[in-house]
Amino acid sequence: MTLRAEHSDVLIIGAGPAGSVAAGMLRQKGRKVLVLERDTFPRFSIGESLLPQSMEFIEQAGMLRAVVEAGFQYKNGATFVRDTLFSELDFREKHSAGWGTTYQVQRARFDHLLALEAERMGAEVRFRHEVIAVDTSGERPVVEVRSSEGDLYTVDASFLLDASGFGRILPKLLGLERPSTFPVRAAIFAHIKDHIDPGTFDRNKIRITVHPEHVDVWYWLIPFSDGHCSIGVVAEQKFLAQFEGTDTERLRKLVFEDPSANTLLRNAEWTMPARQITGYATNVSALAGKGFALLGNAGEFLDPVFSSGVTIAFKSASLAVDCLEREAAGETVDWNTEYSQPLKKGVDTFRAFVESWYAGAFQKIIFYAQGKPEVRRKICSILAGYAWDETNPYVRDTKRRLAALEEICA
Ligand code: FAD
Repeated sequence: MTLRAEHSDVLIIGAGPAGSVAAGMLRQKGRKVLVLERDTFPRFSIGESLLPQSMEFIEQAGMLRAVVEAGFQYKNGATFVRDTLFSELDFREKHSAGWGTTYQVQRARFDHLLALEAERMGAEVRFRHEVIAVDTSGERPVVEVRSSEGDLYTVDASFLLDASGFGRILPKLLGLERPSTFPVRAAIFAHIKDHIDPGTFDRNKIRITVHPEHVDVWYWLIPFSDGHCSIGVVAEQKFLAQFEGTDTERLRKLVFEDPSANTLLRNAEWTMPARQITGYATNVSALAGKGFALLGNAGEFLDPVFSSGVTIAFKSASLAVDCLEREAAGETVDWNTEYSQPLKKGVDTFRAFVESWYAGAFQKIIFYAQGKPEVRRKICSILAGYAWDETNPYVRDTKRRLAALEEICA
């Protein structure tokens, strides 16, 4: 059977943050864009705390006004808690230039808003159209698509951006998937109506709490602007497996192992059944190939602890759009040195921080009371998402600098 064949300029798989922002950026440059999204929006997604660096990319995509006017919870930093230890970072007090504040967003609404903005700017976004096959062997990449009505068709494109997130469609179909070097961790999470007493808690910050006994188990509490919070626990899969019951029962039991939760969340209403996601850390053998590039989670995903996922997704979109623009202007682009390597630079900065966190070393640094302000500003920059800023020695030489700092703080 011959399928109906369509032709596109840039084809994007997935209308999550990476896909929609890439579509907006491409439309700003006058490119024709088709986005194919398997789901219908709005739909739930986890990953709600943005980093200030992400605002620059939202701005580049022409979507800043819509995001600012949406009424999301303002965010200016992060609070870290362990037993009696407490540390607060204000992202405005950072080394790197650029945005120092951002938002905490219900992703159902945020992702929908970005997709609508991409449409408003002229991208064609088809919801409930799933990419099911791909062929990158010819002159132009071709995908096979199934619509919600069961219609099958093909689209060939001048370039394919895979922004399918954990769908990881190209890594799966092209055999690019590689295991992550991190152990298999899982998260159990829900939204709650928090009823936290006003004045006892800074809603402008994400709160990261370390388990009182296990240095590698931690909780997030992400306040929204409507009196709800996102709450979650992250641990190795084998640790979480000890807890029985429904996911909501397991989450509640784990959350109240932290003594501070007993005060903070004593009136909380557990309004949404909790969910578990396991083994989210992923990697690939290549971030780009002939006629395609992987954006955001379709490439590598590290870990949620520093809320870096959406920022990395946006950065990948920005780098890929730059490369496409230069190709359109007649330049030859080496996607390895001009896309994959620059993207990995920041991802590797975050990776070193994540490794240090789970080893307990970064926790010594963050809770060290006598830290020098200029060092704190540099650490703050990276936690604000400026993981590509080479003026920061903690970006240029992350592992060695962190190790030296750990010694001092110990
Ligand atoms: P996604 O958001 O996953 O979007 C991909 C889209 O592609 C989806 O809409 C999907 O339906 C679509 N799709 C998939 N397959 C197909 C197909 N075959 N055809 C068509 N469409 C398809 N990040 C943060 O920045 N802050 C946080 O606080 C944070 N917390 C997190 C907590 C946990 C527990 C986890 C696991 C992650 C967290 N993240 C966080 C990471 C964040 O969720 C992701 O990095 C981010 O969503 C990546 O965006 P994306 O656009 O690459 O992918």
